[in-house]
Amino acid sequence: MVVKVAINGYGTIGKRVADAVSWQDDMKVAGVVKTRPTYECLTAIQKGYKIYAATSDKIQSFKDAGFDVAGSAMDLFNEADIIVDCTPGKKKEGGTTGEDYKKIYEQIGKPAIFQGGEKHKLTGLSFNAYANYEKCIGAKYVRVVSCNTTGLLRTLVPLHRKIGIEGVKAVLVRRATDPNDSKKGPINAIQPEIKVPSHHGPDVQSVMPDIKISTMAVVVPTTIMHLHNVMITLKKEASADEVIAAWKDAPRVILVNSKHGFESTAQLMEYAKDLGRPRGDLYEIPIWQDGVSVVGKELYYTQAVHQESDVVPENIDAIRAMMNLESDKMKSIEKTNRALKIIK
Ligand code: NAD
Repeated sequence: MVVKVAINGYGTIGKRVADAVSWQDDMKVAGVVKTRPTYECLTAIQKGYKIYAATSDKIQSFKDAGFDVAGSAMDLFNEADIIVDCTPGKKKEGGTTGEDYKKIYEQIGKPAIFQGGEKHKLTGLSFNAYANYEKCIGAKYVRVVSCNTTGLLRTLVPLHRKIGIEGVKAVLVRRATDPNDSKKGPINAIQPEIKVPSHHGPDVQSVMPDIKISTMAVVVPTTIMHLHNVMITLKKEASADEVIAAWKDAPRVILVNSKHGFESTAQLMEYAKDLGRPRGDLYEIPIWQDGVSVVGKELYYTQAVHQESDVVPENIDAIRAMMNLESDKMKSIEKTNRALKIIK
């Protein structure tokens, strides 16, 4: 069975998920929904994706701009087996576009995946492949958690399973916006998130309720990656080597070393480009191995998150789980990893 996937919202996440779908042999891109006839239509067409206008009254504007349009979003939704909703997490007038679309998906009885800008309550089921793939098998509506939450889950879940976590405190240093955005900031300030805990801790618990975690966050003027300083009280004393061994087996977690010149997020992004990754994406969560420090039961480490891409393989695994393409999470993870050339 080759599952037909509709991509609704062809922005930072949507275009990456579309490409990742096109690299699998058990799913294909049925089409992508665009609101406006922008330059991204050019690449969509070159990649062979059919373009659908968000509403039928917009079809003419695409034609006027010289782009072939296959129809409206509703035509695509009806044609597809599953919709990956990658629309923005917030609307100017409140709520999210995903919330509005969910009503439509329900009306036509189509399963859908939402992204981390949506709240857990939209689906009641939040996804991370290694943490809870099994729970999402055959599910109708699933939310792939945000880039930061995905990053935290990737490194916390293996630790919790192999050593045991008593409690986590983490400080998230967040990028201001994505590199393609010339409007948002801050461009010369550090902006603390005043609400404590920040939403990231509770979001981790939407997938792993038994991990006790509390987070604070700050936004800084960079577009390349988030960085997390993580402090954990383990259930039992462990050496740094035992902690590192837990991550060595964990999917989509890599260990880097400052002695090799990984001094900041800049070198991590260069590394991804040197690997020849499409768009310079780094799907894995890098942890600084030489920054891992354990004092008794207290563990300290630093990791980074490539916000534009770490959730992409998770979306592919979520499709596989929901469409019953694979019941074994590790088989799905390995299949996705092979197709995306993920290191492990
Ligand atoms: P984006 O703004 O880059 O892309 C959203 C796309 O949706 C745009 O192309 C926009 O034109 C389109 N869109 C707007 N209204 C639409 C409508 N009514 N119908 C169809 N398409 C519409 O946003 P993004 O960064 O890709 O974020 C998408 C989702 O992924 C959000 O929930 C976000 O929180 C989440 N997410 C973002 C990142 C990130 O770092 N960018 C990381 C992980 C998760």
